[in-house]
Amino acid sequence: VEENQKVFLVGGRCPLCRKHVFPRRAWCDRCSAAVDMESVKLSTTGVLYSFSEVHVAPPMFATPYVVGYIDLPEDVRIFAQLEHAAADLALGDRVEVALGMIRRSNDGGRVISYKFRKTGNA
Ligand SMILES: [Zn+2]
Repeated sequence: VEENQKVFLVGGRCPLCRKHVFPRRAWCDRCSAAVDMESVKLSTTGVLYSFSEVHVAPPMFATPYVVGYIDLPEDVRIFAQLEHAAADLALGDRVEVALGMIRRSNDGGRVISYKFRKTGNA
């Protein structure tokens, strides 16, 4: 998978109340009902709600790295790694989803997944 190409997160949307969730699941916490969530592409940009720097992690993670919660316009809060040092981030920063290495695999390869990078200051 190519890094830094345009990438979308696919979440779910409740057919009853239209609430969005990520990841997609078979339960709506607003309706308190088992539902058949529709698959929907989520917005690629959001706002940084909180973050923290991780210094202690299993050896396949290169520490320190930063994780945080990102709020998307669909009212979904996503937990992900961020492509920045904590010192370069502030609550409310604009971020966008991207692909990048999140850790090494057991054989030393690069494990690529979604993460977020900053596009604008709070
Ligand atoms: Zn619902």
